[in-house]
Amino acid sequence: MADDIPYDKTFDLAPGMVETVFPGLRRLVAHNPGPFTFTGTVTYIVGEGQVAIIDPGPNEERHIRALLDAVRGETVTHIFITHTHHDHSPGAAPIKAATGAAVLAEGPHRAARPLHIGEINPLDSAGDHDFRPDIALRDGDVVANAGWTIEAIATPGHAANHMAFAYREGDLIFCGDHVMAWSTSIVAPPDGAMSDYMDSLEKIGRRPEPTYFPGHGGAVRDAPQFVQAYIAHRQGREASILHRLAKGEADVPTLVRAIYIGLDPRLINAAGLSVLAHLEDLVARGVIATEGAPSIAGVYRLAGG
Ligand SMILES: [Zn+2]
Repeated sequence: MADDIPYDKTFDLAPGMVETVFPGLRRLVAHNPGPFTFTGTVTYIVGEGQVAIIDPGPNEERHIRALLDAVRGETVTHIFITHTHHDHSPGAAPIKAATGAAVLAEGPHRAARPLHIGEINPLDSAGDHDFRPDIALRDGDVVANAGWTIEAIATPGHAANHMAFAYREGDLIFCGDHVMAWSTSIVAPPDGAMSDYMDSLEKIGRRPEPTYFPGHGGAVRDAPQFVQAYIAHRQGREASILHRLAKGEADVPTLVRAIYIGLDPRLINAAGLSVLAHLEDLVARGVIATEGAPSIAGVYRLAGG
């Protein structure tokens, strides 16, 4: 079932190396590889001379130095942030301090919903709670400078404040962690919300840009079709959950064992949260039921069953 997405895991850009994708687009990878970050966060430099940086990445000395070296002799005017997770936004502070660039994002870190009574946010440490943008972006906002025009596209789901950025001159979208070529995106409550995520997939999938450059890994080619495969994958996962619930498998750990065969053990907690994201969405739509608010420890059943 995981094979329905035409993944492309080829990406061999070494950390710290600056690659020119085409004149007006450069990228480099931070030194933070891992099960959630693939080879590391990808930072993009847009334009020449007067440049914007998309996702400066983690505040890690080697990465910040490589990024500043890459733009030496140029003026960094804007820093765009796709979302406030620790692998994307903390590098904004040192880059801003070194260049005076303005930091633009949807807003400070926030969860998609309030915590339930007694609930602990398992992703709390993933959030960059200190982050504040200089300029808050709304969906459709357009920012332009010499040679580049960037349009903000609100894409909540992976994170409540997630934005993608269309680069008009490049006919491409910087899509953050919304869509990635090497893996599905993680949608984990309470930071993430599946109903928002699916709406954001539909939204970006209606756009014409053929190529996305994500926050991790290489470019997504044939992006509108790729997004349709992403949507179908989530619908398939939802169908699996409903099938398992119909068989009486009623809690998150049991559903994870049944659905995620051969899962990397480091990803079991994330898989549990991903299942919870589907369960929350299904409860909200009245398809399934549970006692009280949907929770990781909850017991679920088909509504009316
Ligand atoms: Zn990320």
